[in-house]
Amino acid sequence: MGHGERRRHARILSQLGMSAGTANHRLRVQIMFMLVVKAGLDECHVCGERIESAGLLSIEHKKPWEGRDATLFWDLDNIAFSHRRCNVTQNLNGGGLNKKVGPDGTAWCTEHKDFLPLALFNIARGRRLGVEGYCKICMSKVRKSRPARRVGNRLLGSRVTGSPPDFESGAAQAHV
Ligand SMILES: [Zn+2]
Ligand SMILES: [Zn+2]
Repeated sequence: MGHGERRRHARILSQLGMSAGTANHRLRVQIMFMLVVKAGLDECHVCGERIESAGLLSIEHKKPWEGRDATLFWDLDNIAFSHRRCNVTQNLNGGGLNKKVGPDGTAWCTEHKDFLPLALFNIARGRRLGVEGYCKICMSKVRKSRPARRVGNRLLGSRVTGSPPDFESGAAQAHV
């Protein structure tokens, strides 16, 4: 980057409060959202509710493409819009990459750091793929290393996921 260009970048940064790259990206998302609303496509593909703002919008592939077929990535008929929170595959904005998509019939074990056959996992309702985040072997290790928590008279040691919401803190999570 030349001297003059660097100065221009610094000027843009102070004027917009963000880099030109970030600003352009945000503007494109705003424009896309406006068009999505105009076209009546602002209904979340996953939950069916309206997507209220550009910040909530994510691009979803109806059929997962990763590890399958690259044409599914570019196929516009395979594109739907959803809330970021509802998007189960990764989105084009680069977010949500922590949600790993593996080959069919497998799930990600956080401890093995690998995809393992679904049969090796315990069922966990409400989670993606309907299984726990650790395979059975790792789950028993994780359980042993964690002290069982008591809520009322119920021992929650057998459930690592699905802990009750923390009403005490009252801190609403900021979704950016
Ligand atoms: Zn939704
Ligand atoms: Zn494991």
